[in-house]
Amino acid sequence: MKGFDELSPNGEGSLAETLRMRIAAEGPIPVSAWMAAANAHYYATRDPLGAAGDFTTAPEISQMFGELVGLWLADLWLRSGRPEGAHYVELGPGRGTLAADALRAMTGAGLAPDVHFVEASPVLRKAQAGRVPQAGWHDDLSTLPGEGPLLVVANEFFDALPVEQFDGAGASRTVDWRDGRFVPVGEVETETSPASLAVAADLSRRIATQGGAGLIVDYGHDRPGRGDTLQAVFRHAYADPFEAPGERDLTAHVDFAALANAAEGVRISGPVAQGAWLDAMGLPVRAAALARAAPARTEEIEAARHRLSAPSQMGRLFKILAFSAPDWQEPAGF
Ligand code: SAH
Repeated sequence: MKGFDELSPNGEGSLAETLRMRIAAEGPIPVSAWMAAANAHYYATRDPLGAAGDFTTAPEISQMFGELVGLWLADLWLRSGRPEGAHYVELGPGRGTLAADALRAMTGAGLAPDVHFVEASPVLRKAQAGRVPQAGWHDDLSTLPGEGPLLVVANEFFDALPVEQFDGAGASRTVDWRDGRFVPVGEVETETSPASLAVAADLSRRIATQGGAGLIVDYGHDRPGRGDTLQAVFRHAYADPFEAPGERDLTAHVDFAALANAAEGVRISGPVAQGAWLDAMGLPVRAAALARAAPARTEEIEAARHRLSAPSQMGRLFKILAFSAPDWQEPAGF
């Protein structure tokens, strides 16, 4: 799917040209508008995951990740009295790998929910349909089913949602076009993601009303007020977030305290470090079982376990926050 834009990222017909024209007409645009436009184009035009892409996510490292997420949901559903009509909902499901692994684990536990994917990218929808053909798709949360418990998963979804950045006087940081390049204008003292807070609020209200739970997994901090965390990743390396819009993955650290604050009417669990959560959910046991079943893969399985849970790898930076309906049981792993 990489085409003209990659060959000529600032050329005619590119997102860069569209943004240059917009800045010429309106003046400098807020960082949030820049990030929203860049990521919409980025995800709509490619599958960015894996060794050949720009970044690798936990479910792409090992089936164990999705399986433990599925078991977490199934365990909570079982202990909460096996309510009927549950829906599996995933926000930004990537290639559908996590969902496929989670659903397989849930089936083993007697849970077979219907499947709803909130996904903006047509390219990734196609990849998801290949792995989870029974899924239905949504552009946003507004069309999700209004009845029946929701079993929600979001892995590396919130970090892709736009942030706004402000200086000490409350003025927005913007992006301008000067001397032949895009430049950020303004200092950053605070960073917020209104889009993320809106999703967290909507999700929590739905779970509080309909029952169910949601698991939010992302990298970020558990205390607010970290300032500028906007970053770009291209082919597994950091890049300038103000160059080649739509050709690099733009992310910001997730402010878990702010997400928890935005939630209404649900029990909040965590955030806890991903490594601690995975270990509590039985990652070492699952890894040992997989290695016993396929001894030739022992080293590969151990490497994946380490990458997912070691503090020097994904274990500490990535965090897990859960929302659950107040009349459901306490979730495991926290
Ligand atoms: N959860 C997957 C993919 C993470 S990448 C994994 O862990 O592998 C981010 C995902 O969120 C992609 O599927 C992307 O297309 C989707 N996404 C990003 N912004 C979105 C938005 N505003 N609305 C819907 N989906 C979005």
